[in-house]
Amino acid sequence: MATNYGAYTGKVLKIDLTKREHSEYPLSDKDRKLFLGGKILAARILNDFITKPIDPLGEENVLVVSTGPLTGTGCPSSSRFNVSAVSPLTGLLTSSNCGGGFGLALKRAGYDALIITGKSNELLQIDITDSAITYKNADHLKNMLTGEVQQAIGGRSSKLVIGPAGENLVKYACAISDDRAAGRGGIGAVMGSKKIKAITAFGAQVQAPFNKEKLNIIKKKWTMMLKKHPLTGEQLPKLGTAALLSAMQQKSLLATKNFSAGKFDGYRSISGEALAEKYLIKNRGCLTCPIQCARVVEVDGKQVKGPEVEVMGLLGANILNDNLQDIIKWNYELDELGMDTISTAGTIAFAMELNEKGMWKSGLTFGKTDNISETIKKIAFREGEIGDAMADGSKALMKKFGGEEFCMQVKGMELAAYEPRGAVGQGLGYSVGNRGGCHINAGYVVVIEGLGLTINPYTTAGKAQLSIMFQNLMEAVSAGGNCLFTTYAFFPPFLFRKPNSVISRLVNAVLPFTGPFIGIANKLPGILKVNIPFMLPHTVAIKAATGIKMNMGELMKIGARGFNLERMINNRLGVTRADDKLPARLTEVNQIEGNNKSKVPQEKLRKQYYKARGWNSEGGLNKFTKRYYGLDKLDNISERK
Ligand code: SF4
Repeated sequence: MATNYGAYTGKVLKIDLTKREHSEYPLSDKDRKLFLGGKILAARILNDFITKPIDPLGEENVLVVSTGPLTGTGCPSSSRFNVSAVSPLTGLLTSSNCGGGFGLALKRAGYDALIITGKSNELLQIDITDSAITYKNADHLKNMLTGEVQQAIGGRSSKLVIGPAGENLVKYACAISDDRAAGRGGIGAVMGSKKIKAITAFGAQVQAPFNKEKLNIIKKKWTMMLKKHPLTGEQLPKLGTAALLSAMQQKSLLATKNFSAGKFDGYRSISGEALAEKYLIKNRGCLTCPIQCARVVEVDGKQVKGPEVEVMGLLGANILNDNLQDIIKWNYELDELGMDTISTAGTIAFAMELNEKGMWKSGLTFGKTDNISETIKKIAFREGEIGDAMADGSKALMKKFGGEEFCMQVKGMELAAYEPRGAVGQGLGYSVGNRGGCHINAGYVVVIEGLGLTINPYTTAGKAQLSIMFQNLMEAVSAGGNCLFTTYAFFPPFLFRKPNSVISRLVNAVLPFTGPFIGIANKLPGILKVNIPFMLPHTVAIKAATGIKMNMGELMKIGARGFNLERMINNRLGVTRADDKLPARLTEVNQIEGNNKSKVPQEKLRKQYYKARGWNSEGGLNKFTKRYYGLDKLDNISERK
C-alpha cells in the first residue's frame, strides 16, 4: 500500500548544478517523524553532506530550502519556509526563516524540500514546476535589485532571488522572496557563489491532510485564539515588532552606541508609536497569517515593507540616529540590494567605533547619517577599501583593525538590538546559539525578562533551563512551518492584560525557581505525553495534518533533537566552548556604573547551560544526549548519494 504522507508531498528534490542533473533525494518516514521539516529537516539533510569544515563559498557547500508539514495547509501563520547552508559569515551552519511565497509554491510544485549542490559556470535562473526543472541563463538579470529581478521574471511563479550583494559575495547577503528576507548568515552569498540569481517555483499540487475535518476545526479555533490574545491579536497587528522598542528603552535593553548603553535619549522618534503615527499606511503579513505584523510605509512615493524593531534599534539608537525616515529608507535599500539589515547595521556601528577610537578611518561617525546610504551601496558592490572590508562583516574588520572587546558579534554573527546586560538570559542565548549572535536562536528569552513577562532579568536562577526550553520550542514550531510569533499565545493572556495582578507577579517571581523542574522536562521531553491545544495548538495540527503521533513531549523532543543536531554539525566544523563567548563589553563592563549585576555572568551561565543541555565541558554533546535523540548514528556519516 502506498504511504499516506498527509500534508507532506513525500518528495525532496536534489539539483546538482555542476552536472545540471536533478534527482529525488531519499527521505524515510522515520526521517520525517524525527526531524519534521523546516530547519530541523535541513540540518538532517546537511548532516549527510557536511562531514568536515568547508569553504562556504566553494562548490562543496549545499543549499537546502525546506518547508514544514503545515506549509500549504492554511493553518495560521504557516507559510514560512527555511533556507540553510554553511554560512560564509560564520563558517558554521546557518538557517534563515522567510515569510515570502516561495515555500508554499515549492510545495505546490510537489516538493517538501530542495537541495542544491555544486556550482554553475554562468548566472542562472532555475525554474521548478510540477512537470519540469529548467535552467536558464540569467545574464540579463545581473546586478538587478531584488524587486527588479522578481518583476523582470514575472509570471505566476513565486521567486527566491538575490540582489547585487549576493552576486558580489557580501558575507551577510540575504535572499528575498516577495519582500520578505531569508536574512541572516549570508544565504544570498551562498546563492551568489553558486551563480544562482533566482529560483522560481510553481505548481498546482495540493496535499490532502491526514484528517481534513479535524484540521479544519483546529484551524478555526487556532485563528480565534491568536486574534483574541493581547500580543498576537492587538499589539503585533497594531504596532508590529516595533511595539517592543519603547519597552526596550524602559528596561535598558535598547542597544545604544554600539552596545555601550541600554538607553537612547532620542528613542521616542524611532519608536513603534512614531512609526504608527507618522509613517504607517497599513499593516499586512505573510500568507495565511491572521496576525499581520508587517508594516507598509512609503519610500519615494512607493509603498514598501517597513522596518522591524531590530533594524529600528540598530540603525537608530545603536548609531545615535533619531531619524526614523532615514531608517525606513535604509531598510528598503538593504532589502533591494539583498543585505541582512542586522549584520549591516552591526558592522556600521563597529566601523563607527573603530573610527572614533582612531583604529580605522572608515569615515563613519556616530550621529552622522549623511553617508550611510552611500556606505550601504559601497558594501553591496564591494566598492573601494571601505566597501570591500565591510562586506566581510565585523569580525573580519576586527581581525584587521582590532577592537575585539567592542566587536558586537558571536561566532562572527552580529548581535540583534537587545542589549543583554539588561537581560542576562538573552546574553546566555546569544553566546550559545548555533548560528551566532542571533536573538531567535537565543530562544528570545528577553521576552520573559522584561518585554512581556518581567522575571528578574539579572538573576542566573533558572535561566539556562528557560533558555533551553524556549530554544527547543522555537526550533520545533519553526520546523512545523509556523511563524515563531504563534508561540506568544503560549503565555496566558492575563499575564499581559494585568501585569501587576497578584497572579502575574507571582508567576514572574516563581518562574526562575522552576528551573530544576523545567530542566527535567528539557532533558527527558518524552515524558510530557500531553496536548494543551489552548497553549500549543501546533501539536494537534501536525497530528491532524500528517498522521504522525504528536504531543507536547514529542514536539519538544524534536526541537531539542534539532538544536543538538545543529550543534553536533557545528562541533564538526570546529565549534568549542571558546566560541560560546560574548564580547568583553558585555561580560566585563557594568551597564549601570557600580552595579556588578548589570553585566552577563557568562562563565556561570554557560556552565549551567552545558550541564542542562547534556553537553560536556568543551561544549560537545555527551554520549547520553546523542543516544537519547538518536543522533549517535548520524555522527560523521558520509553523503548518501
Ligand atoms: S506574525 Fe508577522 S512574520 Fe509571522 S507570519 Fe504573520 S505576518 Fe509573517
